[in-house]
Amino acid sequence: MALSQSRLMLQPRPPSRGLKRLRPTEETRNAGVAGINTIDTTTRPIEFYRSLPKVELHRHLEGSLRFETVLDVVRSYQLDVPDTSLLRSLVQVQENEPLTFQNFLSKFATLRLIYRSPEIIARVTLEAIADAAADNVRYLELRFTPVALSKLRGFPLSQVMDWVMDAARQGEKEHGVTTRLIASVNRHEGVALAGQVAYLAAERKDRGIVGLDLAGNEPGFPAGPFASAFQVAQESGLQVTAHAGEWDGGENVAEAIQKLGAMRIGHGIRVLEAPAALQLARQCGTPFEVCITSNYQSGAVKQLKNHPLARMLAEGLNVTINTDDPSISQIALSDEYRVFCETLSFPLEILRERVLAAARAAFLPETEREALAQALEREYDSLLAATT
Ligand SMILES: [Zn+2]
Repeated sequence: MALSQSRLMLQPRPPSRGLKRLRPTEETRNAGVAGINTIDTTTRPIEFYRSLPKVELHRHLEGSLRFETVLDVVRSYQLDVPDTSLLRSLVQVQENEPLTFQNFLSKFATLRLIYRSPEIIARVTLEAIADAAADNVRYLELRFTPVALSKLRGFPLSQVMDWVMDAARQGEKEHGVTTRLIASVNRHEGVALAGQVAYLAAERKDRGIVGLDLAGNEPGFPAGPFASAFQVAQESGLQVTAHAGEWDGGENVAEAIQKLGAMRIGHGIRVLEAPAALQLARQCGTPFEVCITSNYQSGAVKQLKNHPLARMLAEGLNVTINTDDPSISQIALSDEYRVFCETLSFPLEILRERVLAAARAAFLPETEREALAQALEREYDSLLAATT
């Protein structure tokens, strides 16, 4: 499928054809998923998906910048960008671009030119939370990369983390979205920086930071050398997640669980290729933070409709649905819920189940996690009752 076609999904669709139509699958694509052997071909307007309460476990602050804000910064600092459309292509995936992880990662490199003051860092944090609230996200785990935000101006990592934490606290209060932060480190930026960020995050554990994440160039940089940084995090009581099995082999999922103590896995879609890792993740009940459109745009998946999410569920894996980088991908979580239901043909009941699974995988104390899941369950029950 061409990128232009995939982006059509973001356009409003015709109104729903009414009652949900379930039919037994001859194709068997979704067969075996939690005992549900039906596919659902109902289409619904995007407003329906916007109205659903949501849980986001995997969203990068640096992938969530509004384009207007990028433009504002470019203009006010008189940065040398020839025209608006070129700027857009530097920070968002466009048609006819190579669907590779190198191209996807290049957007983050350009965006690093934007983090020029504490005010800008606070602004993008607040706007990311406002945008999640507008999409009816009830619980947001926003991950941010202190090294990315500090690099251009040489801001101390500790200050950058405090600016994001302060803004997140303000955003949570202003927009009513329960917001927690995950500090993220890039594989390709080395173990020493990761160690510093882990230590600083551990110091800030009770002030909004709940976890540590490993991201970046997966094929070139194995997770093993980062074990000590992640041990610092774990010993402080932080939770741990890691991108693995996204752009490199599924055995990296096992590496992240065993060497980093990862409690959740970012993406992990290639775990299906690695039987031992698959078995381990299933046994551990490891939640997978899957980001469907991102996987397509970064070349990890060749066609949206063949995304391995259905097979992951059929294998008994604990899958959740997330955006990754809504601004770079030009999506909201509503779009991903729609792709799940309409491109992958899952019924709303399975969507409900996955949203509740995300709530139960949140990096929150158990009582808060359960309260979130139960509140969402009640809402979904009445929403589903109204649509059937
Ligand atoms: Zn990610």
